[in-house]
Parts: sequence; structure tokens; C-alpha cells
Amino acid sequence: MAVTLNHRLYARDVRAARQQELAAKFPDHSIIVLTAEIPGAVRNSRQNNDIGYEALRVLIERFGYRPDWLEVHELPTGFESFLVVPNDGADAKAICCDIEREHPLGRLFKLEVYGHDGKLVERRIKTDGYRPCLICGEDERTCRRINAHTPAELIEAVDRLHDEFFHRAQLN
Ligand SMILES: [Zn+2]
Repeated sequence: MAVTLNHRLYARDVRAARQQELAAKFPDHSIIVLTAEIPGAVRNSRQNNDIGYEALRVLIERFGYRPDWLEVHELPTGFESFLVVPNDGADAKAICCDIEREHPLGRLFKLEVYGHDGKLVERRIKTDGYRPCLICGEDERTCRRINAHTPAELIEAVDRLHDEFFHRAQLN
């Protein structure tokens, strides 16, 4: 079954509903909603899951404990995971921003943080929102707006990042 934009929008609505359920259940916690952000329409589920599980692994490592609640969904629309942690929203967001910036695959991680009030935590500094393009290093939003790269180029760049990272992991 081909995954269409409608499927992805539906998955996003279901994620938002699940986040709200968890926020009601864990009022003194923050919630991290993890997805793999792979540019282009093509989703390779194995690659998407590899990237998602690596993000999950490094999140748990950085937080230093098992979340109070953890769930993982491997969906046709992509990997997604919910982590419920006692940290306040700003603290959790700072950790997530560090991971997105520092991890070799960080540009493919999408880590949304909802604070104790259940609201999305914005990035503290605007420049944290700058994501370098996988291909040319410019602001990714600009490249997307002007269609600077073809879908094939983007897929190739993701494949290369993925293969380099997991190949190296195997050698270690
Ligand atoms: Zn670019």
C-alpha cells in the first residue's frame, strides 16, 4: 500500500490525540514525541525504523533513566514513539535540541516536546530551529521552498547518512 499525504496527516492527528491522552494521564511530566523526519515522499520502513530506534536509544541514554512511560509504533507512515519523562519542558527540549544537533543522524530525528501544561515547547533560541540541508548545508527550509534538490538526490543523501552510520556501528 502506498503511503499518501492523507495517511500521513491522519497519522499526525492520531499522534496528537495520543499525546493529549498521555498529558492527561501524566500531568506532572513532559512528553517527547519522536518521529523520523525523512525528506521526500518515499518512506523506507526499515530505514525509518533504524533511525527511529537509534533516536530512542540515544534519548534514553541522555536522560539517564527509563521513561515513566514508553511506547513505540512501527507504522506504514513511519516510526513513532512517545516517551513520558518527569523533566520540565524546557529541560527536556534542551536535551532534544542537543541530540538533534550533535548526533550524526540528528538531522533525521524529529523530537517534539510537550511540557507539563501539555503544550508544545518552542525552541529557546531561534537559531536552534535552523537545520542544515542534507545536501548543501544551507537552511533546509529554503531548499525545500525553492525545490533546490530533486527527490532522488534527497533519497540518496539519506541513504548515504543511514548506511555510513549503521555500517560504522557494525564495525565497532
Ligand atoms: Zn540544499
